[in-house]
Amino acid sequence: MALHIPFDNTYAQLGSGFYSRQRPAPVAAPQLIAFNQTLADLLQVQAGDLVEMAEVFAGNQVPEGADPLAQAYAGHQFGTFNPQLGDGRAILLGEVLGTDGRRYDLQLKGAGRTPYSRQGDGRAWLGPVLREYVVSEAMFALGVPTTRALAAVSTGETVWREGGMPGAVLTRVAASHLRVGTFQFFAARGQTAALRQLTEYAISRHYPQAEGPMGLLRAVRDAQVRLIAAWMSVGFIHGVMNTDNSSISGETIDYGPCAFMDHYRTDQVFSSIDRMGRYAYSNQPSIAVWNLAQLATALIQQLDDPQQAVEEATEIVHTMPALIETEWLRLFRRKIGLETAQDADMDLISDLLELMEQGQADFTNSFRALADGRAVDYFRDSKAFEPWQARWMQRREQEQDPQAIMRASNPVYIPRNHRIEEMIASAVAGDFTLFERLGTVLQQPFTEQQGAEDLQRPPEAHEVVTATFCGT
Ligand code: AMP
Ligand code: MG
Repeated sequence: MALHIPFDNTYAQLGSGFYSRQRPAPVAAPQLIAFNQTLADLLQVQAGDLVEMAEVFAGNQVPEGADPLAQAYAGHQFGTFNPQLGDGRAILLGEVLGTDGRRYDLQLKGAGRTPYSRQGDGRAWLGPVLREYVVSEAMFALGVPTTRALAAVSTGETVWREGGMPGAVLTRVAASHLRVGTFQFFAARGQTAALRQLTEYAISRHYPQAEGPMGLLRAVRDAQVRLIAAWMSVGFIHGVMNTDNSSISGETIDYGPCAFMDHYRTDQVFSSIDRMGRYAYSNQPSIAVWNLAQLATALIQQLDDPQQAVEEATEIVHTMPALIETEWLRLFRRKIGLETAQDADMDLISDLLELMEQGQADFTNSFRALADGRAVDYFRDSKAFEPWQARWMQRREQEQDPQAIMRASNPVYIPRNHRIEEMIASAVAGDFTLFERLGTVLQQPFTEQQGAEDLQRPPEAHEVVTATFCGT
């Protein structure tokens, strides 16, 4: 059977100002590492033989119907505006329609240099490719909006980072690759017509009910609210929340130095390049608001009556923190088994988190243990936990089935950093067993699985990963 991808491309029709046509640069010896059959079925992609799939997902062979291009975008990186970023090593092959009626981008990440590469080599190495594959699929299974991974190939070439590393290419699937930075690109150039065109495109692709630029802003805000609250609820730290990594569709995008927390710490940072802690765990909500303000600033520039729009945009942005808090509270209520809402719930949850932070309790395991009445094991100072537990027990009496809610909201398995690092090290040595195993177990993160106890365990002192490197 031949590989078949039923392309149906729309972004390419926006015109040449939006991208540069660019074919992937062939690699020496492509080999298929992984192919996501379940996702392929959703995308109506028909698998071919291993050689053909390796050729296509490495970029050596451009499949029929693809229209390969590198997208233009700008972005604030750690708060500093760069008017010209763009896909420096990613190439959009085109779009397909899923069986769910949704449109998806297919993009090769690590497919060679483009006009936007600047000093970069246009490549990716095996480590970040496998991390993104496993973590993005795990996020999907956790119910967090995210881009996904369709395939990974090794290139047979060496990529130079801290040293020589094996090269790889990831096939990323996204609702689209429109970013806050895509809007900033045209706004910064004063290209009002293109900005209007992009706005219409984003509305029709993602939020057909939205009316005009301010309607789009509101819709993006609501999607980002759900996203950020979901990250917080699973202890996820994105690591590089630059506006070029902030998706209009509200998906998690660009898994660089991302990580899940082990023990709970509000100021937790993993990224080696985030020296000021700008993108620390508890800063993520305010950074999302900041990013939305940048989108507002860009969108406003296409309006005839900017003054009125400024007021509306300000209102949309200013309501975001309260909306995040409401959604955060809804999700954290569920984490302690509550479906109904009471005024004192916020204190109950905050007090628990404070206990966790003081006791350096494992975030994931502590919440999971609450469902089984084992929570007390996870706190060093159990005396402080007892009064909290008494309050919680009383509050729970007003709930129908707290156990079931907790089991569905508190995962058993997350992609723990030390396992991801272990997986990368063994894959570099040619062993993909842990990569496969993590993929399988993390497909059902809320279900205890026999023989997977090691993946539930927090790191021992010598296993703790203190920094994740952007060395992408
Ligand atoms: P990121 O930090 O991955 O979001 O990337 C920021 C910018 O750097 C984007 O424009 C990327 O396309 C570009 N970039 C990252 N890595 C490379 C690379 N190896 N070669 C060329 N461009 C890159
Ligand atoms: Mg990026």
